[in-house]
Amino acid sequence: MATTRTFSIIKPDATRRNLTGAVTKMLEDAGLRVVASKRIRMTREQAEGFYAVHRERPFFGELVDFMISGPVVVQVLEGEDAVRRNREVMGATNPNDADEGTIRKTFAESIEANTVHGSDSDENAATEIAFFFKEDEITG
Ligand code: GDP
Repeated sequence: MATTRTFSIIKPDATRRNLTGAVTKMLEDAGLRVVASKRIRMTREQAEGFYAVHRERPFFGELVDFMISGPVVVQVLEGEDAVRRNREVMGATNPNDADEGTIRKTFAESIEANTVHGSDSDENAATEIAFFFKEDEITG
């Protein structure tokens, strides 16, 4: 299995509760390496652009408001089959459906304030990484 990259966001509900380290530890314990990381405050335009695929969904406005409600930590994660590995440790979108031991089961407050984002395909990972990072900010 090849070493690949995925894109992660530690969302505002987690930074507000000072969980950046705890979430990152769960990612690292799952075999993922943080090869780039920065704490930012997303602009409305960035959040709308990032979640453009969800534009038609009824919760789009709330989701954008939530993502700009506090700082987030955007990260590039590297590991064997990184997209799948990260999705596994994240758990289901709705924390009520997430497996024990996953990040969302452990920390998420709701289906919206669900602590982490993770890319759902290698193709989307590449697009999402390029949305927030220049190649020379990813150090390996
Ligand atoms: P993910 O890939 O597991 O993050 O899930 P999706 O791509 O389906 O949704 C993107 C994000 O939108 C989720 O992580 C949630 O923060 C939010 N979201 C998803 N479904 C709902 C919903 O029914 N209501 C609200 N308010 N937010 C939602």
